[in-house]
Amino acid sequence: MSPHPGGPPGHHSRDYSQAPLLLFWEMTRACPLSCMHCRASAISDPLPGELSTAEGHRLLDQVASFGEHPPTVIFTGGDPLRRRDLFDLLAYARDLGLRFGVSPAVSQGLTRDTLSRLADAGASALSLSLDGSRPETHDAIRRQDGTFARTLQAAGEARDLGFREQINTTVMAETVRELPEIFHVLRQLDLRTWELFFLIKVGRGAEGDTHDLPPAGCESVANFLYDASRYGITVRTVEAPFLRRVLRMREERGEYWDDPLYRTLRSDLTTLEGAPSLPSGLARVGTLDGDGILFVANDGTVYPGGLLPYTLGNVQDGDLPSIYRSHELLRQIRRRAFTGACGACSLREACGGSRARAYATTGDALASDPACVWASAAFAEGG
Ligand code: SF4
Repeated sequence: MSPHPGGPPGHHSRDYSQAPLLLFWEMTRACPLSCMHCRASAISDPLPGELSTAEGHRLLDQVASFGEHPPTVIFTGGDPLRRRDLFDLLAYARDLGLRFGVSPAVSQGLTRDTLSRLADAGASALSLSLDGSRPETHDAIRRQDGTFARTLQAAGEARDLGFREQINTTVMAETVRELPEIFHVLRQLDLRTWELFFLIKVGRGAEGDTHDLPPAGCESVANFLYDASRYGITVRTVEAPFLRRVLRMREERGEYWDDPLYRTLRSDLTTLEGAPSLPSGLARVGTLDGDGILFVANDGTVYPGGLLPYTLGNVQDGDLPSIYRSHELLRQIRRRAFTGACGACSLREACGGSRARAYATTGDALASDPACVWASAAFAEGG
């Protein structure tokens, strides 16, 4: 699944108290792939209890009822193409006036004809995953040969069809050294948005086949991403809001993380792309799970985010706007009522740390983000 395909244009407000920016609907867990790090632990067949077409319509009605600025709906999975009623649901969303994007798995079903139908149905944004710069890496992570080639083909076709398209890449030990080359692939395809998911150990990602980075590694990657954001490409992260701290450190203090991993990533980047010459396009503010983001699972359970499986309610017996606006956990996240280092941090408003990683690590969604070097240093000092 892919959090922010395209991202709605022109929405820079940070007040998400009344409506999220993005609403992810995990339409199904069925998926022809079985990626090593899959959040959803996707399976080949749909689970019992998936929302029906009529229940999906009611969910979309609830999304529309957020009012003047309803969230953009991201149809995700599993693989949304496994829903036979996908185009019915897209048409329903369009009739409601909702904006939406689709996050399909790259399978045999993602043909040019399917992409064209998605465009005709009104999907303006599309995200595709690329977890390696070469077939051996990407196909091993996706556990299916040929996926790398199909992804590049689909990316080119979607670009030609006019989608706002983004490439998603998981940041983990298995991919980190290829990040500069993946960025190079993106540039060669003339794609403009790169979104990087910093691995959270949930779903299949918790099974031990993939490995998250230590705080120092995350800091190296964040500094590399600052550099990558200086080539005119939109760079965003998921579950790494400390990138916004790194942005400030680089621009306000001229400080960067000078370690071997960062030096290697930066050197590879400049070898491939030349020295960056533009100002960084990184955003200084952004979303957190529950603060601009909301997630509805295949059975209607509502979570703050796809990687934060804390149950807030269910769309079948609750009202989505009420859940989002009133749930105490979300209100705490939005007012930055954190504990530990994140609670004491001077940048908690702009950053806030990954609530999903705090929850996956400690069982407390308001605890510190253990991947942040500031938080881990405070922990080492007994803070
Ligand atoms: S301590 Fe928490 S709020 Fe501060 S920069 Fe790190 S992750 Fe962000």
